[in-house]
Amino acid sequence: MKAKITTLPGDGIGPEVLEQAIAVLARVASKYHHEFVFHEALIGGSAIDKTGSALPAETLRTAEQCDAILLAAVGGPKWDNPTAPVRPEQGLLGIRRHFELFANLRPVKAYQALAHFTPLRDDLLAGVDLLFVRELTGGIYFGPRQEQGDGDSAYDTELYSVDEVRRVAEVAFRAAQGRRKKVSSIDKANVLASMRLWRRTVTQLHAEKYVDIDLEHLLVDSCTMYLMTRPRSFDVILASNMFGDILSDEASVLAGSLGMLPSASLGAGTFGLYEPVHGSAPDIAGQGKANPIGTILSVAMMLRHSFGLEKEAQAVEDAVDMVLASGARTADIAGQGSSYVSTEEFGQAVVGQI
Ligand code: NAD
Repeated sequence: MKAKITTLPGDGIGPEVLEQAIAVLARVASKYHHEFVFHEALIGGSAIDKTGSALPAETLRTAEQCDAILLAAVGGPKWDNPTAPVRPEQGLLGIRRHFELFANLRPVKAYQALAHFTPLRDDLLAGVDLLFVRELTGGIYFGPRQEQGDGDSAYDTELYSVDEVRRVAEVAFRAAQGRRKKVSSIDKANVLASMRLWRRTVTQLHAEKYVDIDLEHLLVDSCTMYLMTRPRSFDVILASNMFGDILSDEASVLAGSLGMLPSASLGAGTFGLYEPVHGSAPDIAGQGKANPIGTILSVAMMLRHSFGLEKEAQAVEDAVDMVLASGARTADIAGQGSSYVSTEEFGQAVVGQI
């Protein structure tokens, strides 16, 4: 197949990890006879420096003509003033909104070899392999808000429609069909009206179309505990924008390092935005210490979700597993005093395994 990909290196370690992910895509193209054409564009702090905007119109134009976006990371101390009118993360929110990417997929897998980097016991971690499906363009992060009077009070509004809940729940149920056929839907239906609508809508969709899936409803407070006490019991976790934000960060500790985690943001069609979960890590930028696994596994998600290339996606994931099994470690997963390979050496090892 032929596909066009917008690449957004962004800031900090962004360009370093992206380079390795592109090398992996190039290897997949040559091995499986595909053609991937890359179009690099600006986002985040480096875009602010060059154009005054975190998401230049030219970047959106480039992405509109492509089949998928591969984004590394944005931000850094230079632009970290929260009251500045132009900030790097506006690029992220803007691009998600522009393409109506309403479903955020974040897989979290525990690697036995990295178990000592997590605060959990080995026996709790074994077999953990879960997928968050987080609603990304609605809820309290986008609802009506106001600081009132002289700033002594303020409100934000959690607002969901049946359609918004249904379309993201569809993504979760379909994902579960290709996995272990279980969805845990997270809400706070005992307190919030918006979450009663959430539960009712998920229950109805399940009864209409997905009775083959085992559906459980969990209150968000219980879920925070179960993620630590029985993480293996989860398959697909469906959550609202805010609950998914918090729970997926909690679950990220199960993987051993933030550098390991990929994500995909999807809309109604096959177009998607793929990015590692981590930020721009300015503390290690330019030192060859960045772990490229999150970005490389985001490439695997792109191959699967936007291009329908399951075999190729699996080949990338297997290659990462093989390199880890060979003992190669980047600095973040090497352990204190242990030797480690550079970002580029790790990326090249993955390329070599494909
Ligand atoms: P961060 O994710 O950049 O870093 C947190 C810690 O994890 C740091 O110690 C870092 O060195 C380490 N780390 C992160 N990614 C790593 C990798 N691939 N390999 C090895 N170690 C890695 O979060 P932060 O320090 O809170 O934020 C730094 C900047 O990134 C801020 O400007 C923030 O706004 C931005 N940020 C961007 C995104 C994004 O682009 N999606 C997400 C989060 C934070």
